[in-house]
Amino acid sequence: MTDLRSLPSVDRLLADCGPLIQSHGRLAVTEALRAELAAIRENRPDPVPNAPEILVRVGSGMAARAQSRLRPVLNLTGTVLHTNLGRALLAEAAVDAAIAAMRAPAALEYDLESGGRGERDSHLRGLLCELTGAEDATVVNNNASAVLIVLNTLARGREAVVSRGELIEIGGAFRMPAIMEQAGCKLREVGTTNRTHAKDYREAITPETGLLMKVHTSNYRIEGFTKEVLAPELAGIAHDAGLPLVNDLGSGTLVDLRRWGLSPEPTVAEAVAEGADVVTFSGDKLLGGPQAGFIVGKREIIAAINKNPLKRALRMDKIRIAATEATLRLYRDPDRLAERLPTLRLLSRPAAEIRAQAERLAPRLAAALNCRAEVVDCASQIGSGALPTETIPSAGIALSLAPEALAERLRGLATPIIGRIHDGALILDLRCLPDDAALLDAIAG
Ligand SMILES: *Cc1c(COP(=O)(O)O)cnc(C)c1O
Repeated sequence: MTDLRSLPSVDRLLADCGPLIQSHGRLAVTEALRAELAAIRENRPDPVPNAPEILVRVGSGMAARAQSRLRPVLNLTGTVLHTNLGRALLAEAAVDAAIAAMRAPAALEYDLESGGRGERDSHLRGLLCELTGAEDATVVNNNASAVLIVLNTLARGREAVVSRGELIEIGGAFRMPAIMEQAGCKLREVGTTNRTHAKDYREAITPETGLLMKVHTSNYRIEGFTKEVLAPELAGIAHDAGLPLVNDLGSGTLVDLRRWGLSPEPTVAEAVAEGADVVTFSGDKLLGGPQAGFIVGKREIIAAINKNPLKRALRMDKIRIAATEATLRLYRDPDRLAERLPTLRLLSRPAAEIRAQAERLAPRLAAALNCRAEVVDCASQIGSGALPTETIPSAGIALSLAPEALAERLRGLATPIIGRIHDGALILDLRCLPDDAALLDAIAG
């Protein structure tokens, strides 16, 4: 028989809770004690736990709840720009700029020369024009909002002409047809999935047409019997009809990635030079900055976008503006970009260096986790839809021990380790591991 008479009171327990109250506050500790006592009264465990046992349980429960679910993790998935793990890591200069903007007032919309009202976008406009060759630029919350506001500004109540081969879904609710609908414009599909010709676009243009659109098919490739109309020709078709060409690049990069041994992605400067009137791209994909949506292009169009009431709804905050400005500045010195920009540094890490790291760490992991740990070749991915069919040679550690259970155990660490299950083993691709100690410390925790 469970005898609840020995159960201590909340007040008695509180008297021994000095350090817990110090960490979590008296109110939270009192509530946790009440909840624990209520659970014991309800479940009537036998024997009834004594005061020290109750305090240990309450303490560990509170410590677990106090851990943020947004705390840092080790991304050993092999996907460098992992959307579910927050995409790009910021450069130190960007982190410093963000912290400074958080700590003190900043002249966000204040003109330091005149003492009058300034413009939030002015901090980024010059840099974006310099790095892309565009006449003007504006920024919004992310690239999905960039596409939304561009379509809404240029083609509300009218038609937007897009090839059937480019009606992408990025994931979740971002599907080009759905965005068009939200923007209030009518999708006019042309061509077929694999082939679209110049005459398909020309024949689709009517007095109802608001714009022609090209979408970078970032997360898939159509191969084989294919035909697309490239941007320079499409710009000609649009301009002959007095219409703008919009080019959504998605993961637009500002530099030629071949310099770092990677496959080329179209650069924003190329897209501008090819005659697009507006180009949209993301801040936290290949560009390696915070979440942002960039819109660069013709002056009158950017001015019209800035006047759209949606602009206020989709605007960026000062913290990200500061971090974005610092990130963009790094592009002025491409020679040192790979040193300073984590995304590029991680993407260009040589496989041999990663393999040497795996050789050093595998025996230590085997000992710590009490399982077989084998060094394996693996293939990293850029992620976020960039170059989906290309992989980058990498190396990792394959842990062979009930992979699902092991993956769960590593996810439960104070610094969770996120790997990838492949062929019945848990693979830790070490491309994104900052240093040996990061993994050893995480395992030890
Ligand atoms: C990723 C992507 C988007 C969406 O960009 P977010 O910054 O994730 O909002 C839009 N279009 C294309 C082509 C993309 O690749």
